[in-house]
Amino acid sequence: MKLLLFSLFREKKRRVVELTEKMMVDGFSGRTCESEGQWNHIKKFLERSGPFTHPDFEPSTESLQFMLETCKILVIGAGGLGCELLKDLALSGFRNIQVVDMDTIDVSNLNRQFLFRSKDVGRPKANVAADFINNRIPGCCVVPYPFNANLFFKFHIIVCGLDSIIARRWMNGMLLSLLVYEDGVLDPGSIIPLIDGGTEGFKGNARVILPGMSACVDCTLELYPPQVNFPMCTIASMPRLPEHCVEYVRMLLWPKEKPFGDGVVLDGDDPEHIQWVYQRSLERAAEFNITGVTYRLTQAACATEVFKIATNAYIPLNNYMVFNDVDGLYTYAFEAERKENCSACSQVPLDLNFCPCSKLQEVLDYFTDSASLQMKSPAITATVEGKNKTLYLQSVASIEQRTRPNLSKTLKELGLSDGQELAVADVTTPQTMLFRLCFTT
Ligand SMILES: [Zn+2]
Repeated sequence: MKLLLFSLFREKKRRVVELTEKMMVDGFSGRTCESEGQWNHIKKFLERSGPFTHPDFEPSTESLQFMLETCKILVIGAGGLGCELLKDLALSGFRNIQVVDMDTIDVSNLNRQFLFRSKDVGRPKANVAADFINNRIPGCCVVPYPFNANLFFKFHIIVCGLDSIIARRWMNGMLLSLLVYEDGVLDPGSIIPLIDGGTEGFKGNARVILPGMSACVDCTLELYPPQVNFPMCTIASMPRLPEHCVEYVRMLLWPKEKPFGDGVVLDGDDPEHIQWVYQRSLERAAEFNITGVTYRLTQAACATEVFKIATNAYIPLNNYMVFNDVDGLYTYAFEAERKENCSACSQVPLDLNFCPCSKLQEVLDYFTDSASLQMKSPAITATVEGKNKTLYLQSVASIEQRTRPNLSKTLKELGLSDGQELAVADVTTPQTMLFRLCFTT
């Protein structure tokens, strides 16, 4: 792992030289407006050796220059996790940061997404977050990233501060699709490390994923419980997060107490409305002892990992850290292992064991219910008698209607044979997945 990482970094440096010219054009290089001593705290880590530095690390001024001038980071998500990440990265010396978030700012974000103010409600998160960091940290250049999957290759490291497992899996699949294999050997220069942070209630995790080398998101999919979107009972009786409190005030207290009269809709641009929601949310949070400390801890851990990988000064996390702040504080790290038959990163089509008399519905249920696949709305196609045939597709109403009768047909009736390949597309991955049908008797 250690050696591999080192060679990965060397490969990256090589690629960096090739990309530098491109970046100059992008206007990312040559900034000099830093303040005196701005990076002294970082130099202490990079310009001398220590008991915890990487065995292959050679202190120099180059690493800092690489961070300041060349290293391009993509931060995905500018919400509760992303705000903290952007601040930490920018203060650590990363100046070429792009940030992507499709959301606009909502009044309920203001209590912990600290780069936003009430005047920003309704504006795009990525733009406001970028402006805030750029104004606050001299020389830093955060740019909102116009989402374009074809441009991911430009980045050295991608950091995810997402609250959606589907989006995380999609990103994981995207980075896996960028890997280049020559005669079956992975080209280390094609690897873009993914640092992934996640929180749920008072639990958090930070992990380092080297696509194609270490365990990917789908390798450990069984770790994720099915996702819950703020069930009403949580908001009403068991809030655990600051936003549960805000949601409670917005959804339940506002219509009940009618603070500004009957029929007055909550206006996110009205400071008095926001103040009311804020006060009530604070009261609610105090009642349930809720604070946001866990987010900061997780995101600080993610930014540290970016720093370690970019500078090669310290051995990166190998590769999964969790901490739990539910009852006292508990944290540990472990190595999540690659799954040999991972549907995302194993490079081999997975076997589907079904009887020829099984119905297509059973196959569909397997795709959605299996803990290791957890697909959302799989579309299944196969080549039958030389023709590409859509067996079932849910996302387009007219096709769903046309293919629905197939669900109650058996695999044999559909003309599928033993060894047949099924191509399956789903929102959880940008690539079509291949499965091989193995008939059981
Ligand atoms: Zn995997």
